[in-house]
Amino acid sequence: MERIVVIGAGQAGASLVAKLRASGFAGKITLIGQEAVPPYQRPPLSKAYLLGDMALERLYLRPASFYDEHDIDLLLGAPVTAIDRIARTVTVGGQAIAYDQLALTTGTVPRNLPAAMGGALAGVHTVRTLADVDAMAPEFVAGRQLVIIGGGYIGLEAAAVAAKRGLGVTVVEMAPRILQRVAAPETSDAIRALHQSHGVRILENTGLAALEGEDCVTAVRLANGDVLPAEFVIAGIGVVPDTALADAAGLYLENGIAVDAQGRTSDHKVWAAGDCASFPWRGQRLRLESVQNAIDQAELVAQNMLGAGLDYDPMPWFWSDQYDLKLQIAGLNLGYDRVAVRDAAGVRSHWYYAGDKLLAVDALNDPRAFMLAKRLIAAGRSPDPAQVTDPAIDLKSLLQP
Ligand code: NAP
Repeated sequence: MERIVVIGAGQAGASLVAKLRASGFAGKITLIGQEAVPPYQRPPLSKAYLLGDMALERLYLRPASFYDEHDIDLLLGAPVTAIDRIARTVTVGGQAIAYDQLALTTGTVPRNLPAAMGGALAGVHTVRTLADVDAMAPEFVAGRQLVIIGGGYIGLEAAAVAAKRGLGVTVVEMAPRILQRVAAPETSDAIRALHQSHGVRILENTGLAALEGEDCVTAVRLANGDVLPAEFVIAGIGVVPDTALADAAGLYLENGIAVDAQGRTSDHKVWAAGDCASFPWRGQRLRLESVQNAIDQAELVAQNMLGAGLDYDPMPWFWSDQYDLKLQIAGLNLGYDRVAVRDAAGVRSHWYYAGDKLLAVDALNDPRAFMLAKRLIAAGRSPDPAQVTDPAIDLKSLLQP
C-alpha cells in the first residue's frame, strides 16, 4: 500500500490530504502537525475569534471526525525532527514513519524582534497561531495602550480590532508608508485615513530603537528618541518560510522550498505547497502567502502526487477586513508603474498597470469591481485606464470584446 506523509497541518496540509482522498487515493495518509489542535483557519483568528465572536470549533477547517472517516492518521502536537530522504522516513517523537511520497506544507513563522531590542519581554506578542491569539486575548481590555510594530496586514487588522475594543493604539511602521510592500500609495492613503478616523495613531517612516521594561514591556522607544507608553506590544513585522526541516534534509531552497511548476522539490519523492513553497511563475520565482494559494497549490500537488502532471499557474487574490472595510485584491501588482483610480457610486478601486497591461486591482468595499477585475485579469484583458476611471462607464462593458 502506498504511503503518503504530509508535514504541516495548516490550511495547505489539510487541503492536500482531503484532495488525495477526494481524488481516489486509497493508500495510507499521515498528516503531522506541530500544534496540538486540528487544522484551523487563520484569517478569523485575529479578528472574529479574538473579539469572542467566533467559537473555537468554528475555526476548525473540518470536524475532528473527518480525519477518522477518511482514514487519515492525524498526528497532532507532534513536531517532526528530521527527514531521511535515503531511508524515506520522517522522525516524530523518536519514531520513524516511512513514506513513499512526502509533502511539506510547513507554512511560515513570524519574524521576532531581537531579544537585544526587548523582543523577549513579557507582553510582546506575535500573531500566527491559535496559542498566540489565546495568549494576547486577555490583553485586549478597553483603555489599555497597545503599540503595534509593523504596518502590514497583521498589524493593521490587529489595530482595527483593538480600536474597536476601545484600546489606545499606535502603529509604528519603519517604511515611508503602511502596506508599502503590498499596495500602492493610493491604497495606503485610504487605509491610513480609515484608521485615523477610528483614533489609531499611525507613525510611518519611524524606526524602532528598543522595547523597554524590566520583565514586562512598559514602553517603546523610537529611533527618533520618542518614548511611547505601552501595556503590550504586537510585532507584525513579517514572516519567513519555515524551511528548517527542508534545509536540514538538503532540499534546494530559494526564497522558501523551491518547487517546479508541478510542486515537486529537488527530490522527486518530496513535494511542497503553500506559504513555504516558491514556484516558477511567468519568468520569476514566486512565493505567495495567502489562503487561496495554500488551498489551490496543495490541491494541485495532491493530484500531481497521483500522477496528474498539472502545472500551477495561479491568478492570485487576497482580502483584508478592517473595521467595515473589505479590501479585496485581484492579481499581483509586481512591477506596476501607474495606478488608475476609479471612484464610482461611493466606492473606490485602484487599478495597477505596467504600461498598458492591467496587473491587479484593489477594490475597497467594491465586490463588483473585484469580481470583474478577476475576470479581466484571468482573460488577459487590459481595459484603457481612461475607461476604468470614468464613473459613467459600467465595468461590465469592459468584458465585452
Ligand atoms: P508584512 O506584510 O511583511 O508587513 C510587515 C510590515 O512591518 C512591513 O511593512 C515592514 O516594513 C514592517 N516592519 C518590519 N520590521 C519593522 C520594524 N522593526 N519596525 C517597524 N516596522 C517594521 O507582514 P505581516 O503584516 O506581519 O503579515 C504576515 C503575513 O501574513 C503576510 O504575508 C501577510 O500578507 C499575511 N496576512 C495576510 C492577511 C490578509 O490577507 N488579510 C492578514 C494577515 C496577515 P518593510 O516592508 O520595510 O520591511
